[in-house]
Amino acid sequence: MPAHRASDFSLEFVAEALQRQGILRDDDRRTAFARENVQRAKLLKDQAVRGGRALRRADLSPIELLASFQFPDARRDNEVVDEDKATQAVAHAVGLGYRKIDPLKLDAQLITRTLSRPFARKHAVLPLERRNGALVVAAANPFDRELFENLHALTGMAIEPVLSAPADIHRAIAEIYGFREQIREAQTQVGAPAAGEVPDIGNLEQFVNLSGLDALEASSEPVVAAVEYLLHYAFEQRASDIHVEPRREESIIRMRIDGVLHPVYRIPKVVHGAISNRLKIMSRLDISARRPQDGRIRTARGDTEMELRVSTIPTAFGDKIVVRILDQQVLVRDLSELGFLSDEREQFERWLERPHGMVIVTGPTGSGKTTTLYSALQALASPEINIVTIEDPIEMVHEDFNQIAANPKTGTGFAEALRHVLRQDPDVVMVGEVRDAETASQAVQAALTGHLVLTTLHTSDTVGAVARLRDLGVPGFLISATLTGVVAQRLVRQVCPGCAEDVLLTADQVADLGVRHPEDHAGKLVARRGVGCPKCRFTGFYGRTGIFEVLTVNPRLRHLVADGATPEVLGRTARQDGLRTLREHAVLKVAAGATSFEEAMRSTADAEGQR
Ligand SMILES: [Zn+2]
Repeated sequence: MPAHRASDFSLEFVAEALQRQGILRDDDRRTAFARENVQRAKLLKDQAVRGGRALRRADLSPIELLASFQFPDARRDNEVVDEDKATQAVAHAVGLGYRKIDPLKLDAQLITRTLSRPFARKHAVLPLERRNGALVVAAANPFDRELFENLHALTGMAIEPVLSAPADIHRAIAEIYGFREQIREAQTQVGAPAAGEVPDIGNLEQFVNLSGLDALEASSEPVVAAVEYLLHYAFEQRASDIHVEPRREESIIRMRIDGVLHPVYRIPKVVHGAISNRLKIMSRLDISARRPQDGRIRTARGDTEMELRVSTIPTAFGDKIVVRILDQQVLVRDLSELGFLSDEREQFERWLERPHGMVIVTGPTGSGKTTTLYSALQALASPEINIVTIEDPIEMVHEDFNQIAANPKTGTGFAEALRHVLRQDPDVVMVGEVRDAETASQAVQAALTGHLVLTTLHTSDTVGAVARLRDLGVPGFLISATLTGVVAQRLVRQVCPGCAEDVLLTADQVADLGVRHPEDHAGKLVARRGVGCPKCRFTGFYGRTGIFEVLTVNPRLRHLVADGATPEVLGRTARQDGLRTLREHAVLKVAAGATSFEEAMRSTADAEGQR
């Protein structure tokens, strides 16, 4: 492309490249030309109204301009030509690589040490990595030779440009430089963190208004701003929790996305204390206390209210902090979104229709039990029904439930709280977990006396719940009289829809699954697997879903439970009556392409081990 200059990169060039590749229809291309100036003025005005960064930028990229029309993708129904598609097509047209920027993979040190923020922003350029002695940079304009020559002069390295979507480049610049700058400023201020702010001690809620990213740049409190950057970043990456972990030399910040931790930042040791104090102040914890503490922060992401649960544990190198991000839309769902197969959901819903009895959800920590219980309570919620929850701690505040925090340390454990609650005669009681004999006895009594009781137990499968209740001293006849049903569950990662492809499982893999799958004629099973794409940051997975074993206590089982039958006998009988095991459910999900063979095996290994 020697003949091109930066100014040759125009809407005309982009639109023609897209049209030649069959992405843009010719009439849409002509519409783009006809409306170019009007559209540009409109975009600039919108940005001015929003007070956005774009005004301070040199230019609007022709790719942003074209994508703003949201023309339909001529190749695919229901898809529009967005910045990613346009950038990919332009890269193809000019013979450059295309790179979807993965914010978690950015090398913040490389970026901030190579370029100043004004330079990066002015030229919409971002160093990505050093490769074979060359510096790979993400650029928005493929023809900006002057820029590439300047970068070469600046770094002494060969420059290898790849194209990335302009919006991604600018967002990464704002976040990386913003966070870095705030951390650096904080480093110079350490020793005087947020003076004058004396936190209330306790577990009260506090609504914290997060600033927009633009306003953050102007913030005078670097630590405040840095923490807010972190939160914004986590929201944007769909992270479920943020870990701030002090080590000897520095602190490491990691975020969990779809169940997997990704390292995001390393911050200097001296800033750690200030960041940790800021999080404690936001969640109304005692900054001077050297003991584990839990607090919460209410905030908003757009229109959605978010809840952050902050827990701190003192370690040798400072407080280790975990911020769990509780998004109501994730934690409380419609029962149809949990991953039940339709017959399983029907059984579960039937249990909830009964005015009394006990419904138990089992599974290890992190298997989605709380989501199932909250979703069940939400399905039950109505103005005529009084729902009370007893939790330790309260996972998420829901306006339709009366939520009580159990706190064994202060003498109000589950059993104690339950006793008080029952005096108020609620219709539905959710007991966060049954851990001891007294709670078990109270919960069974409540279920016996006209209350619908929902709770969780730590057992790996459904019949294990019966044995566990017995271990906790509940007599078989009482279990038999109250237990309506048990759900055992796990969470599995879902195959990314953006990059899924068919794979034929080997005979060994099919054998490993250990059950006859639905179309087992030739011993072959077609599954799906994600090969990796930008949407799933090349993990092949996007989002999670539940794997369930749903046991309805039918009359036959009820007799056996009353007679003290062993879990083996209960399990065998339940299977005869059609119980689908966790593994069998997982196999159906594999066959349906919802999850992978490996996920199915991993998530159900413990339950299978007991059979
Ligand atoms: Zn993917």
